[in-house]
Amino acid sequence: MYKDLEGKVAVVTGGSKGIGNAIARRLSEEKMSVVINYHSDKEGAEETVADLKKLGGEAVAVQADVGTEEGVDSLLKAALENFGGLDLWVNNAGMENQSPTHELKLEDWNKVLNVNLTGVFLGSKAALNHYLEKNKKGNIINLSSVHERIPWPTFAHYSASKGGVKLFNETIALEYAHKGIRVNSIAPGAINTPINAEKFEDPEKKESTLEMIPMNTIGKPEEVAAAAAWLASAESSYVTGTTLFVDGGMSLYPSFEEGKG
Ligand code: NAD
Repeated sequence: MYKDLEGKVAVVTGGSKGIGNAIARRLSEEKMSVVINYHSDKEGAEETVADLKKLGGEAVAVQADVGTEEGVDSLLKAALENFGGLDLWVNNAGMENQSPTHELKLEDWNKVLNVNLTGVFLGSKAALNHYLEKNKKGNIINLSSVHERIPWPTFAHYSASKGGVKLFNETIALEYAHKGIRVNSIAPGAINTPINAEKFEDPEKKESTLEMIPMNTIGKPEEVAAAAAWLASAESSYVTGTTLFVDGGMSLYPSFEEGKG
């Protein structure tokens, strides 16, 4: 537990399920007040809010599309109106779909870039403006991916968006470090969430994923949430502009295991 998080306010985008949901729950366990953003899963978001309230936490669910300025503005407004401030913004919302690049539709490229990269920009911009206006040493956490480093054929738009998040993360960390604002990314590997549900239900596909993970196990959303709680807390007070890989070693070039190459 991180005592300094108690009573602080967080926005978590895409928080109705998966990693975002685990982060919202963990921050609530840390006694933060949480705005849980959802896009279409109203039921999931409201269930989460009800659970957190039962545990004595403060939470509110807010529908918004993170790819729009109105959407992110409504999330900031909800934090200010319900909880009186903002200390942490978690850009978690993301999406992916698969297509050979020569067949990739512009519409799908735009959708993925809009949520995964523009959403991170708009969310960070809203948070930064609030922190600057209040002269607050606020915090931003971006959910990137191992694919900010590892190329992923047939997911060129996803990889491009996460590569973009990497340099966006580093750039704004540098730009606002002198204000005491910290910005970091988390790069998950293969985590058991709805984005991967189909893949992990198929034993062959699951096995082929496991072969790429030196620790030979699929990650849990709670393991990513633990990294987010640490980055949110003062225990990481000297850390900014970094990407914390939470991937069981997936980004360590596992094909070189046993001295091959
Ligand atoms: P998920 O599909 O379970 O959850 C993603 C959430 O984002 C959903 O709640 C979805 O509704 C929301 N979302 C999508 N478009 C949105 C929009 N326009 N506005 C608001 N919300 C929107 O996925 P997840 O696995 O929990 O992934 C969370 C983040 O972690 C994503 O950024 C993803 O790219 C990243 N990530 C996940 C994995 C993994 O293995 N699960 C690996 C690497 C990176």
